[in-house]
Amino acid sequence: MEFPVLFLGALPEETPALYSLMNYADIKGGTWYPQGGMYSVVKSMQQLAEGLGVQFRFNEEVAEIVVEDGKAVAVVTTQGRYTTDAVISGADYHFTETALLPPEYRTYSDQYWNKRVMAPSCLLYYVGLNKKLKNLCHHSLFFDVSFEQHGHEIYRDPQWPSNPLFYVSAASLTDESVAPTGCENLVFLVPVASGLQGDTESLREEWFQKIVERFEQHTGEEIKDAIVVKRTYSVTDFVNDYHSFRGNAYGLANTLRQTAILRPSCKSKKVSNLYYTGQLTVPGPGVPPSLISGEVVAGELIKTGIAR
Ligand SMILES: Cc1cc2nc3c(=O)[nH]c(=O)nc-3n(C[C@H](O)[C@H](O)[C@H](O)COP(=O)(O)OP(=O)(O)OC[C@H]3O[C@@H](n4cnc5c(N)ncnc54)[C@H](O)[C@@H]3O)c2cc1C
Repeated sequence: MEFPVLFLGALPEETPALYSLMNYADIKGGTWYPQGGMYSVVKSMQQLAEGLGVQFRFNEEVAEIVVEDGKAVAVVTTQGRYTTDAVISGADYHFTETALLPPEYRTYSDQYWNKRVMAPSCLLYYVGLNKKLKNLCHHSLFFDVSFEQHGHEIYRDPQWPSNPLFYVSAASLTDESVAPTGCENLVFLVPVASGLQGDTESLREEWFQKIVERFEQHTGEEIKDAIVVKRTYSVTDFVNDYHSFRGNAYGLANTLRQTAILRPSCKSKKVSNLYYTGQLTVPGPGVPPSLISGEVVAGELIKTGIAR
């Protein structure tokens, strides 16, 4: 019951009761899986958008939003310069403000950002096994050690967790398309504090050994010798790949003071045609809220007459 709360960005006693709706949705609605994994949802959305005339340009980093007289007039990318009627940034809010905009056009100061409480980051292991497992479910939460200790090491005294709770996803138990025949595709997820230093390969390996021991002990399945693929991903990767503020994985923490209108606004206060979507603005982190924020911004653009 408590584990999902770790992803919300605060200890259970500091999380608004409203978020018990997450547990309610899980328990009453059940857990659903899109065949092909989450990527198939992304592909379907791309197809839908293309059907409506949207053009995508992939692998093209935005390096600058050009502002003239309080209006975003162009976006400069690694491939060129595009003039714009409006800009919607779905990248990390802090990054857009501090790295893409001239300082005078930032809505929020460094002081504001430094006071934000971030949701955790995570330590991830993508593991391929050359055998099938019997004693495992698609979703497994390992609650076998102290929740209090792990929560303390994420929120009260941020440090690499000494003995963390973790989650294992074994999508290949449900979906044959995500692993070769006779193989298993596992993801191990350990929530850790955002902004942690010392994220090295050797530290990641040390933690992997710790959680695999527990995994083997509880499932009775030996996996160490069956690993044929292993990739790790953590705080520094979130910063390098996604420009994620303090390497957070789930945006701003859902504390009462960072909820609803107390979150960074989806409309810039300084640039008339600049909007923000995603997990650092309203309504909040997670896939459904991030999608809703896109819908909210689309509505705002339609109101201005820029979009139909
Ligand atoms: C391991 C993990 C598990 C999760 N599990 C769940 C879950 O079970 N349920 C749930 O609801 N949520 C989950 N989440 C959270 C969810 O994935 C996020 O809240 C959501 O994806 C955020 O969406 P977004 O659009 O704000 O950001 P993103 O999905 O990060 O999209 C931002 C995009 O902007 C791009 N970008 C950044 N900078 C630039 C630039 N300069 N130029 C061009 N593009 C740029 C990035 O490459 C990225 O593609 C999980 C997250 C992680 C990391």
